[in-house]
Amino acid sequence: NRRIVLAERPYGQPDDNTLRLEITDIPTPGDGEMLVRTVYLSLDPYMRGRMNDAKSYAEPVPIGGVMTAQVVGQVVESNLEGYQAGDYVLNTSGWQDYALSTGKQVVNLGKRPDNPSWALGVLGMPGYTAYAGLLKIGKPKTGETVVVAAAAGPVGATVGQIAKLKGCRVVGVAGGPEKCEHVVKNLGFDACIDHRAADLAARLNDACPDGIDVYFENVGGKVLYAVLPLLNPFARIPVCGVVSWYNLQGLPDGPDMGPVIVGTLLRMKVRMQGFIIFDNFGPEVYSEFVQDMTGWLNDGSITYKEHVVEGLENAPAAFNQLLAGENFGKMVVKVD
Ligand code: NDP
Repeated sequence: NRRIVLAERPYGQPDDNTLRLEITDIPTPGDGEMLVRTVYLSLDPYMRGRMNDAKSYAEPVPIGGVMTAQVVGQVVESNLEGYQAGDYVLNTSGWQDYALSTGKQVVNLGKRPDNPSWALGVLGMPGYTAYAGLLKIGKPKTGETVVVAAAAGPVGATVGQIAKLKGCRVVGVAGGPEKCEHVVKNLGFDACIDHRAADLAARLNDACPDGIDVYFENVGGKVLYAVLPLLNPFARIPVCGVVSWYNLQGLPDGPDMGPVIVGTLLRMKVRMQGFIIFDNFGPEVYSEFVQDMTGWLNDGSITYKEHVVEGLENAPAAFNQLLAGENFGKMVVKVD
């Protein structure tokens, strides 16, 4: 049984000393337990926060502890009612090959789910985050302009496609021409701005002739600063993530943007609200999400792209790729 543990807390970007691969025995399930073998491991930006020993909405991973993650696995052996060998399950067992489970925080996906790994993406936590954050906090109305960054990733791509279904003008921001082309051609956004090219603010201005009514915040940094002058009165900003700042150790150099941010919120009467998906929204919203998203995927209104990396041992490098924007679609590791 291979498992990847947190060896030391990183300063800035995680490096070769941050994570360690360990080999242990495969555990044997006791009464009321099952043994689950990981098939797909989800890599998500929030895991960077779990490496820090800082106050947050969740406990940090302890030093020596297995890195947290949702996985899709298959039951190998079960002494637990409701689960049989061969069942696919959504589990929270982290970066490892095998784990015992008592069924807590586990969802049974059945013997033959169509796309097992989608439970980690468009049909799981990132898809639900996009759905609830956009519709319940962003509250987009037909004809409004919605802007979202990390537009080729699982959250941003889903936000933009739902906003299109709601009749909005949708502008994505993504890193590089290839991602931008995908966002417009395959995902149906009206425009996509490459944040790595020059004149981000001017190009965003051109793409949003009627200003911005909803900015779905995924990245912070220069994208946020380019958005601020374009916000319309009564704009909404669901604050979902600030991935461009996750490796920061202190405040960055440069001017104090506090007056611009807070001043804009005041003058434009903007509502900016942070949310953590499983803390802000309950079972009712989740049921709405499952019903709507299943329908949209079945009728082809929503398209989904994954970036699959092979091999558990490649997860640490893949995680840094994710933070650096080198993923193209939802990052998952195929473990076996
Ligand atoms: P992605 O797969 O989209 O990966 C992150 C992306 O962020 C990268 O691919 C990169 O895309 C972009 N990025 C990285 N650095 C920068 C930068 N400096 N400037 C602009 N863009 C950058 O991630 P997810 O879709 O899984 O997550 C998106 C956001 O949602 C994250 O902030 C995440 O933490 C947050 N989140 C929040 C949840 C909540 O409950 N609040 C739940 C789930 C996710 P590109 O190459 O296009 O720049």
